[in-house]
Amino acid sequence: MLAADKIKPTASSALIVVDVQNCFLPGGSLAVKDGDQVIPVINRIAKDFDNVVMTQDWHTAHHISFASTHDGKKPFEVIKLPYGNQVLWPDHCVQGTEGAALSKDLAIPQAGLIVRKGFHKEVDSYSAFTEADGKTTTGLAAYLKARKVKRVFLAGLATDFCVAWSALDARKAGFETYVIEDACRGIDTQGSLAKAWADMAKAGVKRIQSSDIAA
Ligand SMILES: [Zn+2]
Repeated sequence: MLAADKIKPTASSALIVVDVQNCFLPGGSLAVKDGDQVIPVINRIAKDFDNVVMTQDWHTAHHISFASTHDGKKPFEVIKLPYGNQVLWPDHCVQGTEGAALSKDLAIPQAGLIVRKGFHKEVDSYSAFTEADGKTTTGLAAYLKARKVKRVFLAGLATDFCVAWSALDARKAGFETYVIEDACRGIDTQGSLAKAWADMAKAGVKRIQSSDIAA
């Protein structure tokens, strides 16, 4: 991209840093491959944003999304729940644990809001905007609109789950939406990464690289 074509974050832009938490980093219970590599990229681009929101997966113990909650089920199996299909995960991001903490290597002191999600025991929430029942809101869209944000940029973990679902909901809420590919890493179970990119493209989510953002 030519310098003149680079995207310049403005006062109506917000960076949403998704789930950069110890459980999703190398050594964590649901480690995303190379997940730690997003941190220096995110720290660098965050400097260009006045508005930064971070999200934190924040489950109860024995959360419905944990394989261990369901007799005889293993991580990465899929079950049917009242709100749809649910991938079962290893226990992760239990409220108040070290695993649920945001990475200490994030350096974004100006972040204005931390959205916690997935804290209802019977419902998962990949999305930063809406829980997996498709109707319970986290309040994030209303917050961003109150702050006059029109464009959102997503980074973090994991591309094919919490980042993608957040991006799709951002489009539904009417935001111009960018996913910064090199500031994300995916889990990629059963073709989930390719499907997530296809779903995002169809919804009008723009796929960019951190180098497309003007410093
Ligand atoms: Zn979770």
